[in-house]
Amino acid sequence: MNSEKLNNFERAFSSKTSGCFRECKCGVVYYDTFNKWDWGEGELEGLLNDSNAKGVDYAVGGVSVNGVEYCNACSCWHGMAVKVMTFLDEHGGMIAEYFRLEKSRRLAEADSAPLVDVSAPAAIPAAHREP
Ligand SMILES: [Zn+2]
Repeated sequence: MNSEKLNNFERAFSSKTSGCFRECKCGVVYYDTFNKWDWGEGELEGLLNDSNAKGVDYAVGGVSVNGVEYCNACSCWHGMAVKVMTFLDEHGGMIAEYFRLEKSRRLAEADSAPLVDVSAPAAIPAAHREP
């Protein structure tokens, strides 16, 4: 597997958050052993003694695909990522066409939406008016 390509996938589908620990979709817990964190009493010791927890030397982040959250430190999501990347690579032109058509549809929908004159209080339902 091309690690640079996998890294690009991870960056593109990153949940944009990281922290001291994270449980992956597969159930394995990953925790940061390198950075200093404000662990709760016994929290780090619990992870150190948990056979289902694995320490890594960085803040753990997430990879989020189709509503499923994985831990970036885990390898369980790599097979899924290869399938998604293959789909994206094989259908790039079709995906671009879909977005072009959707842009057109959305612009037409926006153009047909009624304009509301916000300077006329009667146009705003009472429940939405500021007091
Ligand atoms: Zn996993």
